[in-house]
Amino acid sequence: MKRRHFLQCSLSAAGTVALSGKVLAAPKKPGVLKLGSQEGRLPGATLKEKVANLEKWGGCGLELGGDPSGRIAEIKEALQGTAVRVSALCWGACNGDLVSMDLGKRKAGIEALKKALGTAAALESTGVIFVPCFHKQSELAPGELDKILWDILPAIAEHAQKAGSRVLLEPLNKAETFYLNRIDQAVAICRKIDSPGLGLMGDFYHMGREEKSDAEAFTAGARWLWHIHLAGRIRWLPGQDQLKEPDQPERSFVDGFRALHKIGYQEYCSLECGVAPGKDPLVAIPAAFEFLRGQWAEALKPA
Ligand code: MG
Repeated sequence: MKRRHFLQCSLSAAGTVALSGKVLAAPKKPGVLKLGSQEGRLPGATLKEKVANLEKWGGCGLELGGDPSGRIAEIKEALQGTAVRVSALCWGACNGDLVSMDLGKRKAGIEALKKALGTAAALESTGVIFVPCFHKQSELAPGELDKILWDILPAIAEHAQKAGSRVLLEPLNKAETFYLNRIDQAVAICRKIDSPGLGLMGDFYHMGREEKSDAEAFTAGARWLWHIHLAGRIRWLPGQDQLKEPDQPERSFVDGFRALHKIGYQEYCSLECGVAPGKDPLVAIPAAFEFLRGQWAEALKPA
């Protein structure tokens, strides 16, 4: 790994450790670009190989999917001696259950999320990504879903804070959910609940379809922003849009990155995307990281 990337990752790892056990506000210093990836996106026959590849390419955040509660020792061992740390836990299970009209289902969903928060804390992760409701998971109107979240989230957020973790609301585009499509909608919930155990995240893919401005969205969400997903316009690796759509411009990350730098974002930016067919991830992922570093450098240039 290049020294510059190593130093950046070392600083980020220290910051994450400092967060375990208690939830702190985002530091007041210029933002940094800390690249990472979802585990499933990384090539490698074992977790150790995946982590080694990520570190070799200058990445330092490993995002886990599903329920890794039975893998904590394996994960810690794979990270030992590396600059890679666990970023967010992309939990996913039971998402819609928490807003179900079936109270038994809702209770079980809440307990499952609480368990995931404990796992996230044990892994010193940033938090647990939570999508309240995908399409077809509820027939309730958004206003009614709001009321359920206002009812259940204070206790979940308090549990998260005590555990040393946080819930991260993720807005999705309208093709995936009718509820929470933009960061300002997640901000409204975070503001209402007002707990360090509740935050939000941004996903460049969804934001490209729903936000008028990446910069305005990140700035509005700055106080609660703890994680970011990276993907191009067609949800392939950043920098790969033109392989499929040569007549369209590449999805730009510059405005969003400029805002992240300005608001002092210290957390991870994690790949959640496909790879263009026929492209080798061993070559394409480091190329995407280089593309993103170029976008970050562009964002930091004086206007
Ligand atoms: Mg996402």
